[in-house]
Amino acid sequence: MAHVSAPHAPSPLPLVSLTEDEILFRENVRQFAEESLRPNVREMDEKGVFDRTLIDQFFHLGLMGIEVPEAFGGAGGTFFEAILAVEEISKVDPSAGVIVDVQNTLVNNALLRWTTSEQKRRYLPGMTSKSVGAYALSEAGSGSDAFALQTRAQLKGNEYVLNGRKLWITNSKEADIFILLATVDPAAGYKGITAFIVEKKFPGFSVGKKEDKLGIRASSTCELILEDCRVPKNNVLGEVGKGYKIAIETLNEGRIGIGAQMLGLARGAWEAALKYSQERKQFGKSIAEFQGIQFQLAQMATEIEAARMMVYNAARMKDAGMNFVKEAAMTKLFASQVAERVASLAVEILGGVGFTKDYPVEKFYRDAKIGKIYEGTSNMQLQTIAKLLLGGK
Ligand SMILES: Cc1cc2nc3c(=O)[nH]c(=O)nc-3n(C[C@H](O)[C@H](O)[C@H](O)COP(=O)(O)OP(=O)(O)OC[C@H]3O[C@@H](n4cnc5c(N)ncnc54)[C@H](O)[C@@H]3O)c2cc1C
Repeated sequence: MAHVSAPHAPSPLPLVSLTEDEILFRENVRQFAEESLRPNVREMDEKGVFDRTLIDQFFHLGLMGIEVPEAFGGAGGTFFEAILAVEEISKVDPSAGVIVDVQNTLVNNALLRWTTSEQKRRYLPGMTSKSVGAYALSEAGSGSDAFALQTRAQLKGNEYVLNGRKLWITNSKEADIFILLATVDPAAGYKGITAFIVEKKFPGFSVGKKEDKLGIRASSTCELILEDCRVPKNNVLGEVGKGYKIAIETLNEGRIGIGAQMLGLARGAWEAALKYSQERKQFGKSIAEFQGIQFQLAQMATEIEAARMMVYNAARMKDAGMNFVKEAAMTKLFASQVAERVASLAVEILGGVGFTKDYPVEKFYRDAKIGKIYEGTSNMQLQTIAKLLLGGK
């Protein structure tokens, strides 16, 4: 006879279940996003600039150091809570969502995991109180093929001298601290890649051209210029030559964050479509009374629910110390597809006004596209998933 659980053995909780702390945390983030962020979203998108006072409020609310231990001024929370924050903020503004996302899931995560205790003391209190972080891997010639990077780091005495250019770096206009990948030995291939903690004020470091983008326009994306940039030897993050490992492992976690950003975006677009469909009247009744609209709303909600399960499960797996690489890639791949489909349908449900800037859905539609590009394009996620599946994982 097949084994069955004992009658009173506790079953695992459904994926949607949150702890009381998580519910309270999500409520606080939601309230902040609705009251303080939403009124500024359109103007920030139009100007292509993120309001610094809002970033200060992110710090004040503990949203820029969610997983950082309280001893360093952080909130001492979980990866799952960081994911909840990114989702709730992105529901109102995916540009704001990516600022919080990069800070928590890429920069703080890398710092928490790979720094020495001296580096932790030096950097973590700033990361939780005032310093915005950025993560600099991509270059003009190395995007999907990230480890073909050319930025060079040469040891001279007690310093590394960095030369090269980084491209597409999120948060770089606002950032004080950069996790930057460079090679100490181009002949060694990926084994030469080393991660550095670079401060904006280091000599030879500057932020270059800002990109003029389709979506997430309020999030800064700039070039970084390193001209004999001097980085103290004790600012190597992890081991020399192990930067590739830091980059891969950090991005694995980051992808769940992008999944959360896309999930929040899809929810924001869906809610706008629902509200409008109940208000707008045609043929003498609200358009939500037409089955054609109802079915679209139902399909969108179903896809959002599936994306939510994937995001939450991958985040819970990460917190549980399980291997989540395949699930993270699947989450980003799927959530970005759902975001694009839902935002597109939302524009259609709003009809003509959906195509204008007076309603939020055209922005969600523009913002959705980035989910399929950064932190590994959809093809790169498919490559990871296929490799793991074919390898029996
Ligand atoms: C708004 C924005 C913010 C960003 N933020 C950051 C950041 O903070 N830090 C950072 O380091 N980078 C960042 N990036 C860079 C981003 O990660 C890269 O743009 C992305 O990895 C793709 O690289 P690429 O643009 O060079 O495209 P390419 O690698 O040139 O890809 C072009 C196309 O070819 C496809 N392709 C490439 N190789 C293969 C293959 N082997 N098989 C099948 N298809 C393939 C891709 O899927 C894509 O469709 C950002 C980019 C943008 C646009």
